Amino acid sequence: MRILQDSYWKSFEKWKNIDRDNWFNWKWQTANRIKSLEDLKSIVKWVDEREFYQVNTLFHFATTPYYLSLADITNPEDPILKQVIPSKQEIDEEYQKEAELDPFLEDIKSPVPGLTYRYPDRVLMRTTNVCSVYCRHCMRKRMFLEEERAKTKEEFEIMFEYIKKNKNIKEVLISGGDPLTLPNKKIDYILENLQYIDHIDVIRIGTRDVVVNPFRFFDENLLEILSKYDKIWIVTHFNHPNEITNYTKQAVKNILQTGIPVLNQTVLLKGVNDDKFLIEELMRDLLKVKIKPYYLFHCDPVKGVYHFKTGIDKGLEIMEHLRGRLSGIGIPTFALDLNGGLGKIPLLPEYIVEKGGKYIKFRNYENKEVIIKNL
Ligand SMILES: *Cc1c(COP(=O)(O)O)cnc(C)c1O
Ligand code: SF4
Repeated sequence: MRILQDSYWKSFEKWKNIDRDNWFNWKWQTANRIKSLEDLKSIVKWVDEREFYQVNTLFHFATTPYYLSLADITNPEDPILKQVIPSKQEIDEEYQKEAELDPFLEDIKSPVPGLTYRYPDRVLMRTTNVCSVYCRHCMRKRMFLEEERAKTKEEFEIMFEYIKKNKNIKEVLISGGDPLTLPNKKIDYILENLQYIDHIDVIRIGTRDVVVNPFRFFDENLLEILSKYDKIWIVTHFNHPNEITNYTKQAVKNILQTGIPVLNQTVLLKGVNDDKFLIEELMRDLLKVKIKPYYLFHCDPVKGVYHFKTGIDKGLEIMEHLRGRLSGIGIPTFALDLNGGLGKIPLLPEYIVEKGGKYIKFRNYENKEVIIKNL
């Protein structure tokens, strides 16, 4: 975990006059998102103008000052910069030829606009296409092609009606974009509507604001709202140990105090985190701030994203490394989302060496083999 000193941001020329009240205020972070080339170049000098415009006209760019402040701005290989700065590989057919805009048919397997209903017991609800930071590896990158906007009340009413009528649905995943970019009132309105549907047991909020704008969870009014509902879980999205700071810890502490557990999904990204020791460190750091690692995803075959792809073997190698070395509560499930909306499948190195009629031969994490009766 990184401990950032008080007023550390003042070492950046651009932010040297920003006081604590602003820096620690999520609204300031949002209002001062860096979106233009000029703004970006005032901090990251080496950005290529032509490349930026070529990519940005298709897949837009934005980052919070806080997230950018975590990067080594002189280093083009910095894992945080790689997640936010447009790269020409995003529009290079060589890298993107096997990828599609919506490989999981989220928009097609959709009973009403905004909902994706893939598994019998849970439904995915898209609330907005706005995010604090536009991750270059976003699996919903097609939404970067649209104007930024949140769903209207009318659109939400239709989604709530559908969920109310379908009693098989036990869980709603509130996603986006990032739902935490919505105003508190709108968040309250969504949560209230879902909380009081009897057959809903779990409301899962997916947000990257814990990573890119942790000050969102310093907002007392938001924390009061979250405390009112007892069905909520939060899933966030850390990809690199450099993203975990003392402010992350404070944000997670505030969330846990409202009674909400916090889980994490990581995406395996070439050149960012495709290293077993680095993933081990990330998982350890997540545990330090009390976030439970949930999924490690193989990179999705999405247009504009596929240059981040590693082989499946890389993920398996990481899983092999983690088992036995890292606490079981720190081990995520490595998973792959199947094209065509067929769902996620978990992947593991093989621990069954041989399966006979009455006996199974296993191996442990040290490759010691054991035969056990299979009755
Ligand atoms: C990933 C996903 C879910 C949630 O799957 P879990 O395995 O429960 O995390 C639900 N619906 C859709 C459409 C998804 O893509
Ligand atoms: S915050 Fe999530 S939805 Fe938004 S760009 Fe990043 S990965 Fe995509």
